[in-house]
Amino acid sequence: MSAIPSIRPDLQLSAGYHSPQVEAEVRLNTNESPFAPPEKWSEDLLAALGHVAFNRYPDRPATALRTAIAGLHGVAPEEVFCANGSNEVLQCLLLAYGGPGRSAGVFEPTYALHSHISRLTGTRVIEGHRTEDFRIEPTVAASLLAREQPDITFLCSPNNPTGRVEPKATVEAVLAAAPGLVIVDEAYGQFASWSALSLRTPTPTPAHPGLVVTRTFSKTWAMAGARLGYLVADAAVVSACEAVVLPYHLSAQTQLAGTLALRYVDEMEARVALIAEERGRVAAALGDLPVESWPSEANFILFRPSSQSGDKVWHGLLDRSVLIRNCSTWDGLEGCLRVTIGRPDENDRFLTALKELL
Ligand code: PMP
Repeated sequence: MSAIPSIRPDLQLSAGYHSPQVEAEVRLNTNESPFAPPEKWSEDLLAALGHVAFNRYPDRPATALRTAIAGLHGVAPEEVFCANGSNEVLQCLLLAYGGPGRSAGVFEPTYALHSHISRLTGTRVIEGHRTEDFRIEPTVAASLLAREQPDITFLCSPNNPTGRVEPKATVEAVLAAAPGLVIVDEAYGQFASWSALSLRTPTPTPAHPGLVVTRTFSKTWAMAGARLGYLVADAAVVSACEAVVLPYHLSAQTQLAGTLALRYVDEMEARVALIAEERGRVAAALGDLPVESWPSEANFILFRPSSQSGDKVWHGLLDRSVLIRNCSTWDGLEGCLRVTIGRPDENDRFLTALKELL
């Protein structure tokens, strides 16, 4: 008789990765864009969908989309790989370069999926740590990498959930010390003052052949629902990802959504500017409250109430129908909460509720 076997023993301790989706009028918990994509983009997409041959598989190498993304960054289409969200891009990198007998280095606290996907793919996780104010100390990182020799090293810039951008000197120190791939996760890259993409130098003699930069359409491009992310790296890395990803993984509609979005770079940049301005306003308001907060170059801010527990404040905000991310029990983030920057009216609701509570 058939039976449900036990789940892989190495996964049993893993709770998966969830952001509780509680009903709330103001949702500032998952770092999405508070704005819908441009109306004209929706019209373009609807019109283009009418011409898709849905009885056929989509263009497997996503040529038009990769060419458009390559144009945006001034690289060759062969240096771009796209997938269903940058999480799938990370999964492909780990399938190709991680796995049993391989290891990945992370600097905690950082984006939980880096270690989570590593473990899912049987990759051993090597944990480095940040300083109390969430910086990576370049000499500490270099000695960890020299000692542990991970196949993959993760950086996240700006770092989720702390918000700091990694200084160029830190990224360069890690690139110099890492023996393998260095994945710089720039899911929030467009909000930051510099990008590791600027460290890519043209072939045939790249200064950092193992540098991989990942990006997403989920945040600044206001397209979290479309599920589209990509990497920019050496063509050999792109080929490796193509070798492990499922055939026809990227649907025709996803490819179209991304290709058409790239016609609206100006609108996207205007949204980024607005969110950055609001981030400044929220950060200043937090500065007047009894909380500790950290400088952010992303579309969210991490803070820690000083007079009450983070958990109590999180529940108090939810009672006022404001949902933010409760990081208060995460390792290294005791008592911390993370708020996504929303529309001005949403940020006002959050600040008013927080002032009442504190
Ligand atoms: N990297 C980081 C740092 C993130 O915060 C997120 C989204 N939470 C992702 C990657 C994944 O984004 P997506 O799969 O939507 O592209």
